[in-house]
Amino acid sequence: MHDFDVIIVGGGPTGFVTALGLAQAGVKVCLVEAEDAIIDSPRAAVYHWSVLDGLERLGIREEAERIGFTKQDYLWLVRSTGEEIRYDLSVLEGYTAFPYNLHLGQDRLAAIAHDRLEALPNAEIRFGTAMTTLAQDAGGVRVAVEGPEGVEYLSCAYLVGADGAGSLVRKALNLGFEGMTWPERFVATNVYHDFESANYGLTTMVIDDQWGAVIVKIDEEGLWRCTYMEDAALPERDYLQRLPDAYKHLLCGQGGHRLDRAAPYRMHQRAAESFRKGRVVLAGDAAHVTNPTGGYGLTTGLFDAYALWPTLAAVVLEDANPALLDIYAEDRRRIYLERTSPKAVANKHLVFHACGGGAALEEALDGLRVMARDADARRMGLWFVKTLETPSPVEA
Ligand SMILES: Cc1cc2nc3c(=O)[nH]c(=O)nc-3n(C[C@H](O)[C@H](O)[C@H](O)COP(=O)(O)OP(=O)(O)OC[C@H]3O[C@@H](n4cnc5c(N)ncnc54)[C@H](O)[C@@H]3O)c2cc1C
Repeated sequence: MHDFDVIIVGGGPTGFVTALGLAQAGVKVCLVEAEDAIIDSPRAAVYHWSVLDGLERLGIREEAERIGFTKQDYLWLVRSTGEEIRYDLSVLEGYTAFPYNLHLGQDRLAAIAHDRLEALPNAEIRFGTAMTTLAQDAGGVRVAVEGPEGVEYLSCAYLVGADGAGSLVRKALNLGFEGMTWPERFVATNVYHDFESANYGLTTMVIDDQWGAVIVKIDEEGLWRCTYMEDAALPERDYLQRLPDAYKHLLCGQGGHRLDRAAPYRMHQRAAESFRKGRVVLAGDAAHVTNPTGGYGLTTGLFDAYALWPTLAAVVLEDANPALLDIYAEDRRRIYLERTSPKAVANKHLVFHACGGGAALEEALDGLRVMARDADARRMGLWFVKTLETPSPVEA
């Protein structure tokens, strides 16, 4: 007899969404989060339209839309020429119930799932509690967790590692994290500034080989996310001193600005060599990480969660074949390697390096120009984020 059916390590958005799906299905879950509260550093803010069905299924879409906001427009701005390429998501109307993107800080999404989870009798949430060791055998998984009461040992039938890019779960499984680390650093800033007075779209990609940026409105009070890039060889501790110079190039609207928060990030393209080992599965950044250009990191993590929770629930509650978890692991790894990562790399190359200029830049821009003028091409281009989804193996 185990303490829990499933332990989820990590209380980021992937962990909370997975835990909520499992608990709503009737699985006895425990989520452990090392920090005392949900981390609110500025990271994911954009949820592509394709993930909204999954939030709906969990019963949290409406609340997420109420707290964040929805929008359809995109602007690609070529800094060197001033060319503006604009399109919106209206061509998706009739093809999906929710033809818009949601903008919302990822901590807020995690908090919505947290509040729903907390209300369920079969769910336990432990903040300030870090998993420190993990062992498994054919019968179950046993972890040591260190929390306010000291060290405790917990057992479960299955464990989900949703503990982010530095995942201790992944390391405990001895799984490599194959890929590369970029030589640049991204600086994500949340700033009050009137980008709309400069006619920016609510999602604007500024294409430039020096001051490329992703600029996204994140709430109705005028807070925007402005992410730019700098050389990782520059000392990280001084990044705030360099911020005013960056803002001279990036803030183009009327009036002043007020910095809300900022954080520097190293960026990687990496995936675990397997997303499952025995009774432990990985999801979200613990399984795969990408540079954020295009907003595919958590999008891929949410699709992990949506594929995983019904499968794991069926294995735990209905004696479904645990080999289904291998299908989950293979499907999700393939999606990252074949779709998420190549597209995020191409987007970074375009936005932050202007594809090196010349014919390569023209070719990339032509793809966007065709999307802007041709509804079918636009629908096909926008469909990319739907192809990051895989069906839950138990339902396939
Ligand atoms: C600047 C930036 C912008 C981004 N923008 C977007 C975007 O717009 N759209 C998008 O889709 N993606 C975006 N991403 C990617 C997105 O932020 C990540 O994919 C997302 O954070 C992954 O969520 P997660 O829950 O898997 O991991 P995390 O958010 O990293 O959460 C992991 C949690 O595990 C906890 N933890 C770690 N170790 C332990 C342990 N031993 N025991 C217990 N708990 C532990 C941590 O404290 C943390 O709370 C962005 C990333 C960056 C850096």
